[in-house]
Amino acid sequence: MTDNRLRSIVIVGGGTAGWMAAAALIERFGANRHTRVTLVESPEIGTVGVGEATVPHIREFLKHLKINEVDFVRRTSATFKLAIGFEGWAGVGSQFFHPFSEHGVPLSGTSFQHYWVKARQLGKADVIDRYALSSELARAGKFAVPKSNDGKGFLYFNYALHFDATLVARYLKSWSMTAGVRHIEGKVANVLLNGESGNVETLELDGGRQITGDLFIDCSGFQGLLIEKALNTGYEDWSQWLPCDRAVAMPCESRSAPASYTRSIAGSAGWQWRIPLQHRVGNGYVYCSRYLSDDEAAATLRQGVEGPALAEPRLLPFRTGVRRKIWNRNVFCLGLASGFLEPLESTSIYLVQRGLQYLLGSFPQAIPNEALQDNVNQRNHAHWSHIRDFLVLHYKLNQRTGEPFWDECRHMSVPHSLAGTIHLFRETGRFRQEAIEFFRASSWLAMFAGFGILPRYYSPSVDDVPEADIFKELANMSAGIASTVAKAPTHEEFIRANCPSTIPVQVASNS
Ligand SMILES: Cc1cc2nc3c(=O)[nH]c(=O)nc-3n(C[C@H](O)[C@H](O)[C@H](O)COP(=O)(O)OP(=O)(O)OC[C@H]3O[C@@H](n4cnc5c(N)ncnc54)[C@H](O)[C@@H]3O)c2cc1C
Repeated sequence: MTDNRLRSIVIVGGGTAGWMAAAALIERFGANRHTRVTLVESPEIGTVGVGEATVPHIREFLKHLKINEVDFVRRTSATFKLAIGFEGWAGVGSQFFHPFSEHGVPLSGTSFQHYWVKARQLGKADVIDRYALSSELARAGKFAVPKSNDGKGFLYFNYALHFDATLVARYLKSWSMTAGVRHIEGKVANVLLNGESGNVETLELDGGRQITGDLFIDCSGFQGLLIEKALNTGYEDWSQWLPCDRAVAMPCESRSAPASYTRSIAGSAGWQWRIPLQHRVGNGYVYCSRYLSDDEAAATLRQGVEGPALAEPRLLPFRTGVRRKIWNRNVFCLGLASGFLEPLESTSIYLVQRGLQYLLGSFPQAIPNEALQDNVNQRNHAHWSHIRDFLVLHYKLNQRTGEPFWDECRHMSVPHSLAGTIHLFRETGRFRQEAIEFFRASSWLAMFAGFGILPRYYSPSVDDVPEADIFKELANMSAGIASTVAKAPTHEEFIRANCPSTIPVQVASNS
């Protein structure tokens, strides 16, 4: 029988995706001594260097690698993230949260949303954020580690991290190399294919050095050096639904206590992110170049930051969409090489993690198995489409009337799948199973309710509960949340006491 085990896995790229792949692969294959994991990167080309907000899944990734979270937070100068705060999206001056927690708890077996909708229609319930502990902690600038469910479900929540992408790559590099990953610095100049199979066989570096492998992981960034340039896999463009095509990024000095959430602030032709780290603040403006010039975007960003700039604004053009196959022949792509969805819900790093799960869950073997690859490609495409729909929803529901970019977004036609989700929610308050694969019902509800959209319907079982009981339950929940928030330390106090950064605070050279 042919030995179908992988002998050599070669990763191209040493950004967040490359080092996440290196860590996950060496964790999986390191012990068998049969499979060698090599990472090649070009310091001359460098990394994209942004990507600072995450979703809670990042903590599972760290846990799987047995990385101590406190150590990681300290060495990546991280802060904690309980939610995303959307400012100005539902009209100038508006604010709502997408929290990492459920809203409320079921009452008499009926989910919170149904009786909240009834109470809201009667003018007897507060905005939905007020029933999610993580929103309220975020609003108050507080943070605490969640306690396991104590019977009061509304007091349970989850959290993610904000971190410095360059420090994360450095951290994972050191971890991976200690675990046995071979590291090569050099620029891949040529990708040589096998004449018969069409598989990638050898990478030729500047200077002539050759690297062979059975499986290649393309983490080379937007260009997709292997997956696209060598294998012409193709790209599905989604910019008709997500019209922003550029970002300008610029870190600045911190001038205020760190928020425990990512800020997403709507602007004239896109939105700005504010990500507080322990040693600086990450800022960026994601915008549509048909409505705003690069100079205008950079000027707007400069005006809006809280402290002196730590670098010049950096322009990052992008094309929203997904690679037609994440796995083509013996190349698996991850990170920016696999596609791009703007960082509105901080999903790119999560998608690297998800891609690795697909790969490692497929018992990758030396001789590619087409049926396995087709299955992974389909699942990956469906997952990206699900996340795309959730992002498109933000633009579609915006209420910034009279601004050309936003008017266009509100009037655009959306993917068929999203149109179905919106219709079902408006009519029934329910979600299709495929629509809640990653973003759960509570996430969709946060967005719909945040934009002031309530379903026409609530479950008739709500009418079996006396209205006074519903109002009492809502009041109890608000009081429980308020008392928990009052007792929690500020985010800054929590960090100082538990996980202060090992990285010096950054100061602008002209300060
Ligand atoms: C504006 C913006 C904001 C973002 N914000 C977020 C966010 O908040 N949250 C989130 O989860 N994600 C975010 N992302 C996405 C995130 O930055 C990326 O998913 C992540 O950094 C992974 O990048 P990467 O490793 O794929 O690519 P890169 O960082 O571009 O790394 C590419 C690597 O390939 C190497 N390379 C390229 N060509 C060669 C060659 N010929 N030979 C050898 N090596 C080569 C480079 O040297 C480099 O090491 C954002 C992205 C952008 C553009």
